[in-house]
Amino acid sequence: MENMELLKIIKKVSEKIIENKDYLTELDREIGDGDHGVNLARGFEKVEKELPTMETLKPFEILNKMAMLLVSNVGGASGALYGTALMKGAVYLKTKEEMTPEVIAETWSEMIKGIEMRGKAVLGEKTMLDTQIPAYEAFKIKADAGANVKECFEFAELKAKSGMESTKDIAATKGRASYLGERSIGHLDPGAVSSYLIIKTINDELKG
Ligand code: ADP
Ligand code: MG
Repeated sequence: MENMELLKIIKKVSEKIIENKDYLTELDREIGDGDHGVNLARGFEKVEKELPTMETLKPFEILNKMAMLLVSNVGGASGALYGTALMKGAVYLKTKEEMTPEVIAETWSEMIKGIEMRGKAVLGEKTMLDTQIPAYEAFKIKADAGANVKECFEFAELKAKSGMESTKDIAATKGRASYLGERSIGHLDPGAVSSYLIIKTINDELKG
């Protein structure tokens, strides 16, 4: 994947999140404090504005810059979680020359470790991880089988979707939604949905 392609994808992701600001906020109003969309849109508006300054940066520097912008502008748990993910991914990516499927898979794996480390959550706790982990695993299966980036993301998107949907039927045990316990059942997790939107946008963009 080339630098400009990465920046184009980030632009599309930013637009998608901003477009879904009200939807994500509405989901968070049901089981949280009603700010997930507002939080993320604030961060991604900054990212979008800064994109022209990233054109000469290396991919790992782009991830670091994004992390910084999200951590300092998103606020809320999701800012720290997405920010940590990007920083952790950047540490790995720094040592690599090319963004091959293998490298992307390993970067993604590091990002998930960052989220797990920061949030102390595991799969099945009704968080963004319920989208991210199955999506990453799908990506990895395809990458190991020699598929190209586009094919890897196509399968990842499919598993991201079912992962996101799975959050509807479970009770939250991490984050604000855990205060509701069983009453969080029946609602999608806002972070699982934002993660899905990000993965879907990357896939849509690669499909062209
Ligand atoms: P806040 O909860 O501080 O208001 P947001 O509303 O922006 O932050 O983000 C909430 C989302 O963050 C949740 O829907 C969930 O996906 C994710 N989240 C919250 N806590 C954790 C955690 N400990 N581990 C992983 N993800 C989490
Ligand atoms: Mg919230």
